Amino acid sequence: MTDAATGFSVKPPAELVDALRDPQGAVLCLGHVHPDGDVLGTLFGLGLALSAAGTSVTFAGPHPVPEVLAFLPGTDRWNVWKTAPQTFDTIVMTDCPNPDRTEGLLAGARGPASRVLNIDHHPDNRRYGTINWIDPSAAATGEMIFDLVKALGHRLTPAVALNLFTAVHTDTGSFRYSNTTPRTFRTAAELTAAGADPSLVSDRLYQQRGRDSLVQLGEVLRRIQISDDGLIAWLAVPKGLVSREFLDAEDLVGYPRSVGGVKVAILLREEAPGTIKASLRAKGEVPVNAVAHRFGGGGHENAAGCTLPGTLEGATAVLLEAVRESLDAVRPRSPK
Ligand code: 5GP
Ligand code: MN
Repeated sequence: MTDAATGFSVKPPAELVDALRDPQGAVLCLGHVHPDGDVLGTLFGLGLALSAAGTSVTFAGPHPVPEVLAFLPGTDRWNVWKTAPQTFDTIVMTDCPNPDRTEGLLAGARGPASRVLNIDHHPDNRRYGTINWIDPSAAATGEMIFDLVKALGHRLTPAVALNLFTAVHTDTGSFRYSNTTPRTFRTAAELTAAGADPSLVSDRLYQQRGRDSLVQLGEVLRRIQISDDGLIAWLAVPKGLVSREFLDAEDLVGYPRSVGGVKVAILLREEAPGTIKASLRAKGEVPVNAVAHRFGGGGHENAAGCTLPGTLEGATAVLLEAVRESLDAVRPRSPK
């Protein structure tokens, strides 16, 4: 079921299933910078299934598991590396369109004979693997790994199911975004039957806020701005305004996105002086990954991101201008 023109495939390719059925040697499940629910849920979901089947699996990435996701089974096996300590026979990468997003770990872990298995749902994936399975029709890489674990004939243990359910839950905004399909619910239903507890996931993600987080939220929400025509809403967060844990735990861009009539929402976070991380969200009119690409970033049509140099004010102005251009292209402004 591979599309000849795009190379996209809904089913796991046979060579990928073969490569994981009885992998020889050591397997590395490698994550990207600032790992989220989809990348961690899929690395742990697949890695724990392989582990239970007798494969030697190492989990690692350039950044730690964020506190809000520390309930995921496998977190205790996660390694934070500055450099890869050795090369691995098989390296599994999930939800990572660009190998540069491992901060050099993939290059360090990849020997001449290593097999890199690149499994992702981003349409702009760079196909850097020995085997590439790209399915942009999947709402989350979690849906793909669910099919892969079944194709491998491995058991969906409660730990595997919880990881994959969380991957699907987070990438679909709790089953609310337009990427949610019948396949999403079929996957979630089977994972729930296999032992994933939806209420536990919601509790861990949304009901465990720190005591002062509502004060921080208030501080942040006051700063939301909306363009005169109501089509763009944005939120610029200077460094030091709120804690890193708060930023990791909250889906802040969801607030400007939630305003009726808004077509594009932007969150800008000053990570360090001169480094601004932007998250872009759309509602089907403007493909925001095209905007992110202009600044070296990427993502999906309705959820993308990039990093810009300069001040928070400067980056905000640049990004607003780029979003405005894209909006104008799809809905020409009425003449004044
Ligand atoms: P978020 O805004 O939640 O960080 O990311 C939303 C989507 O955009 C994710 O699919 C993520 O992979 C992608 N994305 C975010 N930042 C970057 C970036 O700097 N580069 C690339 N290539 N993709 C990004
Ligand atoms: Mn994803």
